[in-house]
Amino acid sequence: MESSSEVSPVTPGHVAGLLGHLSRIGIGYLPMPDQAVAAALAATRSLPTESFESTDQRDAASGNIQHRSTAPDAAADEAVRKSSGGPDSGRSRSGAPPVVTGDGAASAIASGIDQPYAGPSLSPADRAARLAEIASRVAGCTTCTELACSRRSTVFGEGDPMAKICFLGEAPGQEEDASGRPFVGRSGELLTKMIEACTLSRSEVYILNVIKCRPPNNRTPDPEEVANCRSYFAEQLQIIRPDYIVCLGLVAARSLLHSDLSVGRLRGRFHRYRDSKVVVTYHPSYLLRTPNVKKEAWFDLQMLMKDYGIDLSQIGSKRPRK
Ligand code: SF4
Repeated sequence: MESSSEVSPVTPGHVAGLLGHLSRIGIGYLPMPDQAVAAALAATRSLPTESFESTDQRDAASGNIQHRSTAPDAAADEAVRKSSGGPDSGRSRSGAPPVVTGDGAASAIASGIDQPYAGPSLSPADRAARLAEIASRVAGCTTCTELACSRRSTVFGEGDPMAKICFLGEAPGQEEDASGRPFVGRSGELLTKMIEACTLSRSEVYILNVIKCRPPNNRTPDPEEVANCRSYFAEQLQIIRPDYIVCLGLVAARSLLHSDLSVGRLRGRFHRYRDSKVVVTYHPSYLLRTPNVKKEAWFDLQMLMKDYGIDLSQIGSKRPRK
């Protein structure tokens, strides 16, 4: 019998057992707990300096991860470190969220989204300059040939570079493509109402999409397009480093959290993306089509407001700010 003072090493068997347990309680997108996958996961946790790409390749070989490439997240880290001139410390501001319920998926771990934002926090002027530089790159991006050929404009994002809350949507629609601004039109009007229901204004938050070009006929972006564009939204979030990210709809939630769960399974609790708390709720366009789920979206926003320090009983009066 082992001494109670001894600490047993984490073995592939332990990881397999944990994965099996999580699968049984409904976290269904995790890899099947076979020994090969467990070994890959154990390697992921024990080799923190290993490149994400090599880990992804192993996981992809097992056929269990859909959102493969996470290298752009690391690339975003590097871009911010270079632009900020800060040390390559991987450290960020203090006060990382103490929460958080996360999914613990292999892909999320491998992506590095459980790590803090890289580099020092930038000044408002530096943030604005960095965002403008990325927007310029996005405007000239032709990585997704189909989207680049059919778009009228790229839709980078807008709002306060110092925003505490970011709203992350899926992709531009027809009106966004025409205007170059995110969330205009009917779904944009509803999002504005949702923001105002939180006693905030659009100018106080930051609004962006996962991909910056409109898919033809408003089809769902395919995984390759999301992977192509990931570095852009990852860089935006690195620069803004909000306290909260609200994922609007399935594509935003899955892309940010590397999850395969439904919105219904992800909403109602906090997740984590680096130092940001993440709330998942329904996309405004879905709420327009399915008004009876608006109460769930309101519940999600109330959860955010309560955590943010907005006194729901005092809405309309002076708002406490963190
Ligand atoms: S969707 Fe993103 S990666 Fe694709 S062409 Fe547009 S800006 Fe480039």
